[in-house]
Amino acid sequence: MSDRIDDAVLADDAPDHAAVEPGVLYIVPTPIGNLGDITHRAVQVLDAVDVVAAEDTRHSQRLFQHIGLQVNMLSLHNHNEEKRTKLLISKLQGGASVALISDAGTPLISDPGYVLVSECRKQSIRIVALPGACAAITALSASGLPTDRFIFVGFLPVKQVALTQALERLQQSPYTSVCYEAPRRIEQTLQAMVHILPEDQTVVLAKELTKTFETYVTGSAQDVLNWLHSDVNHQRGEFVLMVGPNPQRNESIPAEALKLHAALVPLLPPKQAAAIVAEHYGLKKNALYQATLHKNTV
Ligand code: SAM
Repeated sequence: MSDRIDDAVLADDAPDHAAVEPGVLYIVPTPIGNLGDITHRAVQVLDAVDVVAAEDTRHSQRLFQHIGLQVNMLSLHNHNEEKRTKLLISKLQGGASVALISDAGTPLISDPGYVLVSECRKQSIRIVALPGACAAITALSASGLPTDRFIFVGFLPVKQVALTQALERLQQSPYTSVCYEAPRRIEQTLQAMVHILPEDQTVVLAKELTKTFETYVTGSAQDVLNWLHSDVNHQRGEFVLMVGPNPQRNESIPAEALKLHAALVPLLPPKQAAAIVAEHYGLKKNALYQATLHKNTV
């Protein structure tokens, strides 16, 4: 406890004039809707750096107007990241300070920046990441789904076969899965979920986070799809789609049961081995079978 207080005092004492240092890359999250969510430190850093690398300079200009900053911007997006990385590395090596931002939320989280950051690491350029808005974490924290262990999926695949395979993995997962989805695909994805997820596997749709029409919808995949169909406006906006852990796989299986099952599997067909162990430990046969079958899939 006292350590935390000491840390807090240190943070308060951090000198304002040293908002940035030369030759450092700053990763700066920006709001995902509500412009009030930019942090005090983010504004200080954006104000002080020599260059801001932005995913879309015109989009970010609106944010800078809102917070009253004039910054020196350079674009860095999926189509020019390799080229821009070379330029930014040479600026950083020459002592410039650089901030990386994306259109919304945390850079690199389903956004550009990986090429730049990995190259900075290789070149031993210092990187400082600021904490801030991220749709995945915002949605997860209010979802009501287990948060102790979760998987961030990013955008689900577009092609039907790949989408089905990805959803089958979520269906089996003992962890909460967090996905981003585009409005034009939300209906199709939920329809695929209706076919693949069991009725008792919880789906949570988080829409328009931090904005006027922020909404959470919880239920089976079919319940959430019904909600989506109930009003044309429900399909508009930005979405985070979350899937709770597979209810059977989430059942806690004692380590000894898994050990015994692993010992029996070379001697018996897996289902028979699962049946014996399940009866001995009072477990659901299917949960045990699935746990061993898919232990390498998550
Ligand atoms: N880097 C961002 C972050 O930290 O959340 C994510 C960028 S990704 C290109 C954009 C996707 O994030 C959207 O399609 C949507 O799935 C999700 N997203 C962003 N803002 C959101 C919001 N306000 N409400 C719900 N989802 C949002």
